[in-house]
Amino acid sequence: MHFADLTPYSYLAKPPYAPEFVRTEPWPQFPLLNIGWLEPGYPYTQGLVSDAFIDALMSWRDRYPVHETRGFHQCGYCHKEGKSEAFAQEFRRASKEFRILGNGCVYAVPFLLPHYVSVHDYQPPSEFIMAVGTGPPSSRDVPPSGPAAAG
Ligand SMILES: [Zn+2]
Repeated sequence: MHFADLTPYSYLAKPPYAPEFVRTEPWPQFPLLNIGWLEPGYPYTQGLVSDAFIDALMSWRDRYPVHETRGFHQCGYCHKEGKSEAFAQEFRRASKEFRILGNGCVYAVPFLLPHYVSVHDYQPPSEFIMAVGTGPPSSRDVPPSGPAAAG
Protein backbone atom coordinates (compact mmCIF):
# COMPACT_ATOMS: atom_id res chain seq x y z
CA MET A 1 0.00 0.00 0.00
CA HIS A 2 1.77 3.15 -1.17
CA PHE A 3 0.68 6.76 -0.75
CA ALA A 4 2.89 9.80 -1.29
CA ASP A 5 3.70 11.88 1.78
CA LEU A 6 1.33 14.75 2.56
CA THR A 7 -1.37 13.63 0.13
CA PRO A 8 -4.96 13.47 1.44
CA TYR A 9 -5.65 10.24 3.27
CA SER A 10 -8.20 7.97 1.65
CA TYR A 11 -7.21 4.42 2.55
CA LEU A 12 -9.90 3.50 5.08
CA ALA A 13 -11.96 6.66 4.84
CA LYS A 14 -14.43 5.23 2.34
CA PRO A 15 -17.26 2.71 2.58
CA PRO A 16 -17.46 0.10 3.95
CA TYR A 17 -15.04 1.50 6.51
CA ALA A 18 -16.55 4.97 6.83
CA PRO A 19 -18.74 4.39 9.94
CA GLU A 20 -15.89 2.82 11.86
CA PHE A 21 -13.59 5.52 10.53
CA VAL A 22 -15.66 8.31 12.03
CA ARG A 23 -16.01 6.47 15.31
CA THR A 24 -12.31 5.93 15.86
CA GLU A 25 -10.66 9.09 14.58
CA PRO A 26 -9.30 11.10 17.52
CA TRP A 27 -9.65 14.43 15.66
CA PRO A 28 -12.26 13.99 12.92
CA GLN A 29 -12.57 17.75 12.50
CA PHE A 30 -9.16 18.02 10.81
CA PRO A 31 -8.12 16.80 7.35
CA LEU A 32 -5.96 13.68 7.29
CA LEU A 33 -2.65 13.59 5.44
CA ASN A 34 -0.60 10.52 4.57
CA ILE A 35 2.88 10.05 5.97
CA GLY A 36 5.19 7.08 5.60
CA TRP A 37 3.16 4.72 3.45
CA LEU A 38 6.26 3.13 1.97
CA GLU A 39 6.28 0.27 -0.45
CA PRO A 40 9.19 -1.35 -2.26
CA GLY A 41 9.47 0.05 -5.76
CA TYR A 42 8.63 3.62 -4.74
CA PRO A 43 11.51 5.93 -3.85
CA TYR A 44 11.48 7.64 -0.47
CA THR A 45 13.63 10.22 1.29
CA GLN A 46 16.40 8.77 3.42
CA GLY A 47 18.25 10.48 6.21
CA LEU A 48 19.09 10.26 9.86
CA VAL A 49 16.68 11.22 12.59
CA SER A 50 17.34 11.32 16.31
CA ASP A 51 16.57 8.51 18.74
CA ALA A 52 14.42 11.03 20.59
CA PHE A 53 12.29 11.42 17.47
CA ILE A 54 11.75 7.67 17.29
CA ASP A 55 10.83 7.57 20.98
CA ALA A 56 8.35 10.39 20.46
CA LEU A 57 6.88 8.57 17.48
CA MET A 58 6.35 5.47 19.61
CA SER A 59 4.53 7.57 22.21
CA TRP A 60 2.06 8.80 19.60
CA ARG A 61 1.65 5.23 18.38
CA ASP A 62 0.84 4.00 21.87
CA ARG A 63 -1.56 6.85 22.53
CA TYR A 64 -3.51 7.14 19.27
CA PRO A 65 -3.78 3.81 17.44
CA VAL A 66 -6.68 3.46 14.98
CA HIS A 67 -8.09 1.01 12.46
CA GLU A 68 -6.78 -2.20 13.89
CA THR A 69 -7.64 -4.86 11.34
CA ARG A 70 -7.22 -8.57 11.59
CA GLY A 71 -4.69 -8.67 8.83
CA PHE A 72 -1.00 -9.22 9.14
CA HIS A 73 1.06 -6.61 7.38
CA GLN A 74 4.76 -7.20 7.35
CA CYS A 75 7.45 -4.84 6.22
CA GLY A 76 7.88 -5.14 2.46
CA TYR A 77 11.57 -4.28 2.65
CA CYS A 78 12.41 -6.88 5.28
CA HIS A 79 10.28 -9.38 3.42
CA LYS A 80 12.26 -8.73 0.25
CA GLU A 81 15.51 -9.19 2.11
CA GLY A 82 14.35 -12.55 3.40
CA LYS A 83 14.47 -11.67 7.08
CA SER A 84 13.61 -14.53 9.38
CA GLU A 85 10.11 -15.60 10.27
CA ALA A 86 10.82 -14.60 13.87
CA PHE A 87 11.50 -11.07 12.71
CA ALA A 88 8.30 -11.07 10.70
CA GLN A 89 6.37 -12.21 13.78
CA GLU A 90 7.41 -9.04 15.50
CA PHE A 91 5.07 -7.27 13.11
CA ARG A 92 2.16 -9.61 13.43
CA ARG A 93 0.00 -6.79 14.73
CA ALA A 94 1.27 -4.19 12.32
CA SER A 95 -1.97 -3.96 10.40
CA LYS A 96 -3.18 -0.77 11.93
CA GLU A 97 -2.43 2.91 11.88
CA PHE A 98 -1.87 5.72 14.27
CA ARG A 99 -2.47 9.46 14.33
CA ILE A 100 -0.34 12.48 15.01
CA LEU A 101 -1.90 15.89 15.50
CA GLY A 102 -0.36 18.54 13.24
CA ASN A 103 -1.01 22.21 12.76
CA GLY A 104 -4.58 22.21 11.43
CA CYS A 105 -4.26 18.68 10.13
CA VAL A 106 -3.82 15.14 11.35
CA TYR A 107 -1.16 12.79 10.02
CA ALA A 108 -2.30 9.28 9.12
CA VAL A 109 0.60 6.95 9.67
CA PRO A 110 1.07 3.19 9.24
CA PHE A 111 1.91 1.26 12.39
CA LEU A 112 5.28 0.30 10.90
CA LEU A 113 6.48 3.88 10.62
CA PRO A 114 8.91 3.76 13.58
CA HIS A 115 10.36 0.63 11.98
CA TYR A 116 10.73 2.36 8.60
CA VAL A 117 12.55 5.22 10.29
CA SER A 118 14.84 3.18 12.51
CA VAL A 119 15.63 0.25 10.21
CA HIS A 120 15.19 1.63 6.69
CA ASP A 121 16.36 5.24 7.25
CA TYR A 122 13.12 6.80 6.08
CA GLN A 123 13.18 10.53 6.75
CA PRO A 124 9.71 12.10 7.02
CA PRO A 125 9.01 15.70 5.92
CA SER A 126 10.24 18.34 8.36
CA GLU A 127 6.73 19.59 9.19
CA PHE A 128 5.87 16.08 10.32
CA ILE A 129 9.00 15.85 12.46
CA MET A 130 7.97 19.14 14.07
CA ALA A 131 4.47 17.82 14.75
CA VAL A 132 5.83 14.67 16.39
CA GLY A 133 7.87 16.93 18.66
CA THR A 134 8.58 15.28 21.97
CA GLY A 135 5.47 13.12 21.83
CA PRO A 136 1.77 13.71 22.41
CA PRO A 137 0.97 16.76 24.53
CA SER A 138 -0.94 16.24 27.74
CA SER A 139 -4.64 15.83 27.05
CA ARG A 140 -5.59 19.31 28.19
CA ASP A 141 -3.43 20.79 25.41
CA VAL A 142 -5.08 18.72 22.71
CA PRO A 143 -8.06 20.21 20.85
CA PRO A 144 -11.30 18.52 21.88
CA SER A 145 -12.12 15.59 19.70
CA GLY A 146 -15.42 15.04 17.97
CA PRO A 147 -18.15 12.63 18.99
CA ALA A 148 -15.71 9.80 18.31
CA ALA A 149 -13.93 9.90 21.62
CA ALA A 150 -16.70 11.31 23.76
CA GLY A 151 -17.57 9.05 26.64
ZN1 LIG B 1 11.65 -3.64 7.56
